[in-house]
Amino acid sequence: MVVCPHRESGLGKSTLINSLFLTDLYPERIIPGAAEKIERTVQIEASTVEIEERGVKLRLTVVDTPGYGDAINCRDCFKTIISYIDEQFERYLHDESGLNRRHIIDNRVHCCFYFLSPFGHGLKPLDVAFMKAIHNKVNIVPVIAKADTLTLKERERLKKRILDEIEEHNIKIYHLPDAESDEDEDFKEQTRLLKASIPFSVVGSNQLIEAKGKKVRGRLYPWGVVEVENPEHNDFLKLRTMLITHMQDLQEVTQDLHYENFRSERLKRGGRLKVESEDMNKDQILLEKEAELRRMQEMIARMQAQMQMQMQGGDGDSGALGHHV
Ligand code: GDP
Repeated sequence: MVVCPHRESGLGKSTLINSLFLTDLYPERIIPGAAEKIERTVQIEASTVEIEERGVKLRLTVVDTPGYGDAINCRDCFKTIISYIDEQFERYLHDESGLNRRHIIDNRVHCCFYFLSPFGHGLKPLDVAFMKAIHNKVNIVPVIAKADTLTLKERERLKKRILDEIEEHNIKIYHLPDAESDEDEDFKEQTRLLKASIPFSVVGSNQLIEAKGKKVRGRLYPWGVVEVENPEHNDFLKLRTMLITHMQDLQEVTQDLHYENFRSERLKRGGRLKVESEDMNKDQILLEKEAELRRMQEMIARMQAQMQMQMQGGDGDSGALGHHV
């Protein structure tokens, strides 16, 4: 999974990710070794985390990326993220066409949270450009950051505007599938609610605050506490529920749509041939090695037979010779 860049730093991306994956407050809930970085580049950093909801545990790789609006050349930052997504597809394609296809590790990016500013009036041109650059590669889930800075009315207005602009610009975001008709009513209702909440407007915090006699993750203001995990205050819980209940669908859409897109593009460019030829090369080398081994074994067998013959034949020869003499 990827946590995608937002234009500016300081939108609360790290705080939200910590809130979502409990990486800060509850270190004991992170599986052993999970926090260890599994990859580190100058710009992109991946770590493994575990999230749990009502007994369902999910192990995820979270990829954190820089706020690309910080960089002087934003196009280059696009490229870094796009290359990262493509590299994971490429690796998967390679493994899938290789000899050891039973043990493929799936590091493909199944979801991208795209952070939008609560201070703008909708999408900025760079948001449009970026989302369009990745929408055929990854499931985009738009998120309005720092929702506590907006009144309820402002929140609704911004959500609507963002959705309108997404449609206007033909940006493809992740669509939650409708619940199957045989699902229970609660699940159907939950799915309806989740769908209606997109783009999720969220609040993050790294602090535990006393509220109504309980310690909760929240933000303290002179007029009260904004609780991260209170569905009346923001969509944080909905975002987490969506991630857990729809992870399988996110994976399926990645496989059936985004990965297939990548694979057919790659085929067109002859990429598949390259991968296959690499495998053919590997096979060829193996075959050649085997043939060489066989030749050597045959040679040894011949030499042994010759030596044996010589030893037996030595007596025979002299006998024969003697016979001749
Ligand atoms: P990042 O650069 O996007 O990773 O942003 P950070 O997570 O480092 O947060 C930047 C600042 O915004 C910090 O002062 C946070 O305390 C504050 N912040 C984070 N999340 C929220 C939020 O949901 N609401 C508000 N009002 N502030 C937030």
